[in-house]
Amino acid sequence: MAIYAATSAATIRGRHPAGPVFFASYVTTVTASAAPLRKFIGMNTITRKDRAVWLQGPSADGSVQCSAVPGEHKHPWRLILLGAPGVGKGTQAELLTRRLDACHLSTGDVFRAAGERKDCDQSPAMKTALEYMRRGELVPDSTVWEMVRERSACILDCGGFILDGFPRTLGQAESLKELMEKEKISLSAVVNYELPLDEIVRRLSGRRTCEKCKSIFHVTERPPKVEAVCDHCGGRLFQREDDRPEAITVRLEAYERSTAPLIQFYKDLGLLMPIVAKGSPDEILARTMDKLDKLEACPKDGDDRRTALHRAS
Ligand code: ADP
Repeated sequence: MAIYAATSAATIRGRHPAGPVFFASYVTTVTASAAPLRKFIGMNTITRKDRAVWLQGPSADGSVQCSAVPGEHKHPWRLILLGAPGVGKGTQAELLTRRLDACHLSTGDVFRAAGERKDCDQSPAMKTALEYMRRGELVPDSTVWEMVRERSACILDCGGFILDGFPRTLGQAESLKELMEKEKISLSAVVNYELPLDEIVRRLSGRRTCEKCKSIFHVTERPPKVEAVCDHCGGRLFQREDDRPEAITVRLEAYERSTAPLIQFYKDLGLLMPIVAKGSPDEILARTMDKLDKLEACPKDGDDRRTALHRAS
């Protein structure tokens, strides 16, 4: 069974991620409000949805819960996926999530979920963030970090996670590092998917996404069985606004400027695991799993871990 879940609301209640009061109130303005929805479902009704806590943000009354959560793991996998847009991070995140029994935490999905809400349910900060996204530009660090902080239980209390699309700047990486150090948890590895530029552009322009379950297809490389219809849920497949040619150029420039420096950042921390992203999704997954399997057999922290990562690279 596919497990895309974040963490349960019960866990979030036990260890609420929100920081000081000023932060909590700011977050309410950043996140698309869940209040109008609650008005209809009633205070005590629990809605269980795929990755609901991550996509919607935690609810104070526990009414937002994930439909599935990873089991208990002695050593949960905590991975960051890096790579230019179109390199296949989202597809690999989906596949790895199932293999490793972890939560798929994509910041792009949070923005898209907010974008699908009615205009009146979007906060001013979220509306501004969505404008950045439509142009293919990076959303400002402060907005992204407030959104992630609000959902930090998905990172801290979840039985493992695959971070996809976050961090994307050095500032975001520093904030995440600080949070994890404070909570005394460490990353397993940072997987960096590598691919030549022309291949990236071809992949992006042919990508199609399911409007319902967000599964990813490609018109030639990973076509659905029925044209424009999702194999998994029957939803309609569409081309993301930021996969249009003019937005693709902007996104690749933003990647070079802001995200590529993260490679050196994580290399210096001894966490980088480069993977050649050529071939089919299954081939890339096999390459990734091969290196992760080698890692699993080694110590989970400290210098020995770094040596093992170096060897696995
Ligand atoms: P991709 O990796 O295919 O470009 P994502 O789904 O990760 O797409 O993100 C889509 C868009 O959402 C980005 O182009 C950007 O505008 C915004 N976004 C997502 N995550 C972040 C982030 N961590 N920092 C800034 N902007 C982000």
